Amino acid sequence: MCVFCKGDLKESRTIHTVNINDCIIIIKNVPCMECSQCGEVYFNDDVLEKIEDIIAQVKNVLSEITVIDYNKQVA
Ligand SMILES: [Zn+2]
Repeated sequence: MCVFCKGDLKESRTIHTVNINDCIIIIKNVPCMECSQCGEVYFNDDVLEKIEDIIAQVKNVLSEITVIDYNKQVA
């Protein structure tokens, strides 16, 4: 259940944006649970871990805007 509105969560995919040192990392197709009422997005621990891996991998080669597909990353 959504912690904000107690709405039902449904499986979805989202675009996750991270801001590091004035650079933006955009990760597409991130699996998530999305609230069907307010649209709040939740990630499970595995996904959060993988997002951190992705950020660690691209951190050294950051351009101003980096766009990555979640599914193309090998953890
Ligand atoms: Zn909600």
